[in-house]
This record gives sequence, C-alpha cells and structure tokens, in this order.
Amino acid sequence: MSDKPEATGTRGFREECGVFGIYGHPDAANLTYLGLYALQHRGQEAGGIAAWNGKRIGVEKGMGYVADLFDEARLARLPGRSAVGHVRYSTAGGSLLENAQPIVYNTNKGPLAIAHNGNLVNADELRAELEAEGSIFTTTSDTEVLLHLMARSRAESLVEALRDTLGRVRGAYSIVLLAGEKVFAARDPQGFRPLTIGRLGDAWLVASETCAFDLLDAEPLRDVEPGEIVILDAGGVASSCFAMGRRTAFCVFEHVYFARPDSTVFHRSVAESRRAFGRRLAREHAVAADVVVPVPDSGVFAALGYAEESGIPYGMGLVRNHYVGRTFIEPKQSIRSFGVKVKLNPVRSVVGGKRIVLVDDSIVRGTTSKKLVRLLKAAGATEVHMRISSPPTTHPCHYGIDTPQRKELIAATKELEEIRTFIEADSLGYLSLEGMLHAFGKGEGETCAACFSGRYPVPFAVAQEQQPLFGHDDVLPLGGHSGNR
Ligand code: AMP
Repeated sequence: MSDKPEATGTRGFREECGVFGIYGHPDAANLTYLGLYALQHRGQEAGGIAAWNGKRIGVEKGMGYVADLFDEARLARLPGRSAVGHVRYSTAGGSLLENAQPIVYNTNKGPLAIAHNGNLVNADELRAELEAEGSIFTTTSDTEVLLHLMARSRAESLVEALRDTLGRVRGAYSIVLLAGEKVFAARDPQGFRPLTIGRLGDAWLVASETCAFDLLDAEPLRDVEPGEIVILDAGGVASSCFAMGRRTAFCVFEHVYFARPDSTVFHRSVAESRRAFGRRLAREHAVAADVVVPVPDSGVFAALGYAEESGIPYGMGLVRNHYVGRTFIEPKQSIRSFGVKVKLNPVRSVVGGKRIVLVDDSIVRGTTSKKLVRLLKAAGATEVHMRISSPPTTHPCHYGIDTPQRKELIAATKELEEIRTFIEADSLGYLSLEGMLHAFGKGEGETCAACFSGRYPVPFAVAQEQQPLFGHDDVLPLGGHSGNR
C-alpha cells in the first residue's frame, strides 16, 4: 500500500509491506503473528492483525516491530479461525497509526478487513472521484480506496464485488481480505509483488513470501497467479481469474534486495538469483584482489557468487550489529551516515593489508558505499573495488518498493566515474541490465526492472516530485493488452 503523495514528505513514494492470511485454524491470530514475524523485513514501522471471531472482526495494530506490538494478552483478544495481517513501512508523514493495516470497515457486504502490499498508481484519481461523490476517507492510504470500491459495488457476491473493484484499480497489489470467516487473496494482473499459498493440516495460508510458511512448518503449495483471486473457506481453495494472460511484471528488485534469501519468489530461490547475479558480476567486472567481502546482509549471496566465479577467497570483512534497524530508514542525512558505522564494523584481521572486492546489492544515494569504503580503508584495506549486483538505480519505484525521489538517486544524476569518485572506491562495477535479467532467468518483457531502466510496465500519473530529470521516462506498453486502464 502507499500513502497519498502529500503525506509522504519530501522523499517521494515510500511503501513496503508484507501480508499474511489464514483460514481454518483455531490459533489463527497466533499463526498470523508468527507469519508476520517472518515477514518483518518487508516493513518495520507498523503491523496489525485482524481476526473473525464468529460475530465480528477484531483488530489489533500499532507502530513498531511485530515482536514488540503483540504479546499473549493482545493475541488473546483476537480469537477465531480466520485472520489476516500486515507489516508496513512508510514515511514519517504517512506513518500515522490510522494508516496501519489491516483496515477494517463494516460495509453493506458485511465486515471486511484488508491488508495490501504494493502501490495503486491510480488511487489518487479514484479517491478524488469517490470523495466528489461523498465518500469519507479515514486514512491517507491508497488501500482504503479498495474498501470503498468494494462497498459501492452492486455485485451480489463478494467475489464479484472484488472483481469489480480490481477492474478499477491499476498498479501493484497483492492483497488479503478477510470477509467474515472467508479469506480472499488477490494479485494484480502483472504480478508485481509476490503472494503465495500454503497449507498447514486443514488450514490454508497465504503469505507474501514462503519464509513465513517455513516458520510455521507449513507446506508451500503454489503462487496466487497474476490476475487471480483465491478464496479460502470451508470448501478449501477456490480460484477466480479476473485478468489472465497479461504481460507479467515480476519485480526483479525483490530478488536483488527486498525478499528474504530463504524464500522462493516468482518460482525461483532468491538466494540462487543472488548467487547468479554475483557470478555474472564477476565475469562482467573482474579485478585482481585478495578477498571478496560482502556488505551484510544484502550482499552476502552475491559476494558468494562473485567469489566462486572469480576464485578469490570469500571473507566476512564486515560484521553487522543485528540490533540496529536498516540505516536506509533513518530520516535525516546525518543520522543515516552515522547509522552505517553503528551497523557495520570492519574485521581488521580479514581486511588489513588486503585488496578488497566489496559486494553490495545496490547503491541508492551512495551514502552507505562511501562510508564503507572509508571504514575499510581506515581498517587497513589497501584497495577497495566496489561491485554492485544490479544495474545503476536510476528511477524510483511506483509499485511498492521504497525509493527516494529521482534527484536523490546518485545514478540518476552522476556518471559511473563520478559515482566512483563520490564513494571513494578504487574501481566500481555494476551488473548490466542484460546480465541481471539473464541471471534472473526471465526476459525484460515479463519482469519489472523500471528502477534500473526507467521503463515502467504500467503507466502512472507523473506527480510534481516524480518529474523525470531528463525528458520523459519511457512507459512500456502492456504487450498486446489494454490492461484494466
Ligand atoms: P544508500 O546509502 O542510499 O546508497 O543505500 C544503499 C544501501 O541501501 C544498500 O546497502 C542497499 O542494500 C540498501 N537498500 C537498497 N534499497 C533499499 C530499500 N528499498 N530499503 C532499504 N534499504 C535499501
């Protein structure tokens, strides 16, 4: 989900989320808690669980980590056999508690609770239209638009109302919807964000990533397909397709950075993708060096791949303090710079007197890389060769990954050599777009790599703050289909 632009401060769209749903288990809320715990990396600012207790939907949500938000007493307030949950990350402006999910409404179709991962690119238009007709919104989140559309649908069944609703929205959405005791899950026709189905005894589960099933000892079954609605109820799993066969747009950045490496996403192991990116990176940007050092945790698997392919030994030259949040999240430049030092410390015995290949997944503003190069040199590294397991990040994401405005992306304004100079590395090499997609095993026509290419698979209105720096961004047409525009 995302916040309206005016609520997102100066850093542009920021929305990263994880969703979970369960039908048919006596401890539905407890299992949702565990599922969200495994999905915490997808959003650390707020979380919530909604459960159907036979009469109404109860909801508990708040700001902070899942482990801090819930205790036994709070979970006990959520009895029932079906539940949905959400973790989210947003800006200071948009991180108000009322924007935490699931969002619960009593509607003419009964009580509904929704949790959404992704970003609806036409939410502002729809919201303006709905407000002009008298709808009252209680959050600044685009997800609420979905509930309004559900409530207004004249369809007789819930699944038809959901089909009507999804026919009106555009962009990225993996959603879970609790409607009375039933759980619905749906994925946008392009399948930007992951959503997968699992089974635990007689209970059915849906989650953003398979790592949530692993924690529950649940069996992963299959993905919710792009353009599919899945209904979990007493009849088991039923499926209704509302838009099949479109051009898919699986987000490659899920594999580069966002998803957990122990998850299978878009039918592929994330760890294996990262290793393949690293191997390819070693072929594209070889260098004479003594040790390959990952930036933990994001660069670990790519660095392994780089080391395997190059034959240069792998060494844990940086150690991470796991009790610090992601440095990227800190709002102020001063805190962010400081955050790198707090989070990562060099291991002198590994890096001292050595020529280092430093591998990370991406450079966003360049702050992290610069700090790390300085830290390694201060710890005695003689050379630091920065290697990035994805292409230059030149464009913001409009489909649900947190990225700053375009002008803050270092690769949007600087050439390779300027970036190298800025981060003070001895050399800098990025994986090529072609190389990344080859290692990902998917063509550009079935993926979304807009943050690297500027080719956005689903058009969006260009708001003031997202104006391209140099001319207009290309918008890639949906191959052969008009989509639901
Ligand atoms: P920067 O200092 O802005 O260049 O940030 C680069 C670091 O942020 C890299 O180590 C990445 O692993 C990490 N990163 C990239 N994208 C994101 C994201 N969407 N959220 C949080 N961290 C990210």
